[in-house]
Amino acid sequence: MKKALTIAGSDSGGGAGIQADLKTFSELGVYGMSALTAVTAQNTLGVQAVFPMEPAAVAKQIDSIGSDIGTDAVKTGMLFSADIIEAVAEKIKHYQWEKVVVDPVMIAKGGASLLQKQAIASLKRYLLPLSMIVTPNIPEAEVLTERAIRTMEDKKAAAERIIKLGAKHVILKGGHDENPEESEDLLYDGHTFTLFQSKRIQTKNTHGTGCTFSAALTAGLAQGLPVNHAVSRAKDFIQAAIQYDLGIGNGHGPTNHWA
Ligand code: PLP
Repeated sequence: MKKALTIAGSDSGGGAGIQADLKTFSELGVYGMSALTAVTAQNTLGVQAVFPMEPAAVAKQIDSIGSDIGTDAVKTGMLFSADIIEAVAEKIKHYQWEKVVVDPVMIAKGGASLLQKQAIASLKRYLLPLSMIVTPNIPEAEVLTERAIRTMEDKKAAAERIIKLGAKHVILKGGHDENPEESEDLLYDGHTFTLFQSKRIQTKNTHGTGCTFSAALTAGLAQGLPVNHAVSRAKDFIQAAIQYDLGIGNGHGPTNHWA
């Protein structure tokens, strides 16, 4: 059986983070494993508290997996601090994992910080060069490139800058852009731009969309799909999941199930 590891934070409400990742791996037929970076007290209304793990505890969990089970692909989600990022990067190098999906999680939709500001430099310096693909939304790409993104030209320039930081591919997700009709995701591999277009869906059930998308992408890579096919299937997965109202919670409901 193909295996995937998520190195990410826990969402007690089950909509994002480790919980979304493991559910997504399961739904796509991949054996899921986790190394926890932080515990959040969280529900569909927001993040009530964040308790980060010791970097040594994160490293130890990864060692337990690397020294016995191994993995076919890895994703990183909420990493919270520079120390955790450096511990994770060191282990990815040690185990020579190549199918590495970096979801540069920064801020929850409700505004809670999931990555300390001073950790952004470490993310760029240590983790992006180890990634097969990085999955920023537009606000995250703006932070990574330190430039505003408004137009398609801006998106292409941002993708080029992110590849220069060392990522092999970037998928710049359009969910936050201003187009009311469509959501356009831009994939770039350093040579070719590929645009994935889909109809924009109006819903408040968007909690965990980023985690679910990057987990679906990781599952696809674990199963041996080429990057563009894994992106396309992950996009179909999140597109289907987002249409379905599970009726959970009073705020932004979760999206981590196939319709
Ligand atoms: N909580 C955790 C632990 C996460 O990893 C993430 C996103 O990556 C979120 C919350 C963000 O959730 P939302 O989709 O509501 O912004």
